[in-house]
Amino acid sequence: MNHLYCSLCRKKYGLKEILFRCPKCNEPLEVVCELPKTNKDDLTRRRENSLWRYKDFFPLKGKIKKISLNEGGTPLIKSFNLGRKIGLRSLYLKNEILNPTGSFKDRGTSIGISWALHLGFDKVGTVSTGNMAVSVGAYAARAGIKSFILVSVGIPKNKLGHISTFNPLILEVEGDYGQLYYESLKIGKKKGIYFINSDNPFRVEGQKTVAFEICEKFSFDVPDFVFIPVSAGGNFFAIYKGFKEFYNLGFIPKIPELIGVQAEGCSPIANAFKKGKKSIERVKNSQTIAHAIANPFPPSGNRVLRIARENKGKIVSVSDKEILNAQKLLSKYEGIFCQPASATSIASVIKLKKEGYLKGGEVIVSILTGNGLNDPSVFEYYKPNLKKANLNELDSLLN
Ligand SMILES: [Zn+2]
Repeated sequence: MNHLYCSLCRKKYGLKEILFRCPKCNEPLEVVCELPKTNKDDLTRRRENSLWRYKDFFPLKGKIKKISLNEGGTPLIKSFNLGRKIGLRSLYLKNEILNPTGSFKDRGTSIGISWALHLGFDKVGTVSTGNMAVSVGAYAARAGIKSFILVSVGIPKNKLGHISTFNPLILEVEGDYGQLYYESLKIGKKKGIYFINSDNPFRVEGQKTVAFEICEKFSFDVPDFVFIPVSAGGNFFAIYKGFKEFYNLGFIPKIPELIGVQAEGCSPIANAFKKGKKSIERVKNSQTIAHAIANPFPPSGNRVLRIARENKGKIVSVSDKEILNAQKLLSKYEGIFCQPASATSIASVIKLKKEGYLKGGEVIVSILTGNGLNDPSVFEYYKPNLKKANLNELDSLLN
């Protein structure tokens, strides 16, 4: 039977209980649902191109109002120029930028909001200052319901402007940003607001479809490595869950090695992984240009550590300099402008190739999680190749 499950203490809870974390051990809960009786041929024949092509893999049974902006179905592009430059024969880019609001978050928001409506909520919320805030704002508008966005003090004006276009109530909250996640779950319960935060079990259900799409694109022969930027840890878990479900159905021969990537200036999970610890420690004074993944105390951090250990994965970190370099290379060689947080995945591909961990012949997928335009603060690092000219100088200058 479908239920919510704590992978640490193995306790089960009802699927419709308004629970996000295990009341016993405070670890994030996950959805366990009966896998559909389908096969590979049936999957590949499906016409729906959005993530709703995997509808029977979600715990949404019965009458469901689908809230969708056609998320998912993003391209998996083979990198010719950058791959060659790094010395890799088979580097692929999963371009999540092409989701409706410019990031992978839309996958989780679509399922999360559809579930919230199914439970009878008419208000949703999230704790975010970037991609997720924009995504929840947009999907709430689409659903015709109210949204509440909790952000930390000092949020850049351009981000605030982007979120505001969807007209949510935004609360700029003073105090510890990591703690805001936990407070939101408490206040949500009291006020009847369904919080679709980073590792909400139903958000994870939407985001696991990235793995499904990768498997289908490779005709069910999976890549060797998947590089994933890691913040709260919800998306790393989601992608693992997706591969695991296809593996359990016998669709794929193995689960790829998952490499989680953090920014050096805020890398609680990578720090714990390096030291061989089972739980994360809060990072003080986090500082990185990859704002979208700067979570000093990731709510799914311990779960990411468990997966990395059990599944032969790795959690690594890269410096701001490496991130910025990777972002520039992606723009210059592939024509894809992603945000710094997304560029961490390419930065670590470059790093692990230099260190010899990657040999060159492996099949590698790098997840590009979000659009560079969602985080325009990095433009200050780009010096335009600009010359002033008047009309009669064009002939001599355009050489
Ligand atoms: Zn538990």
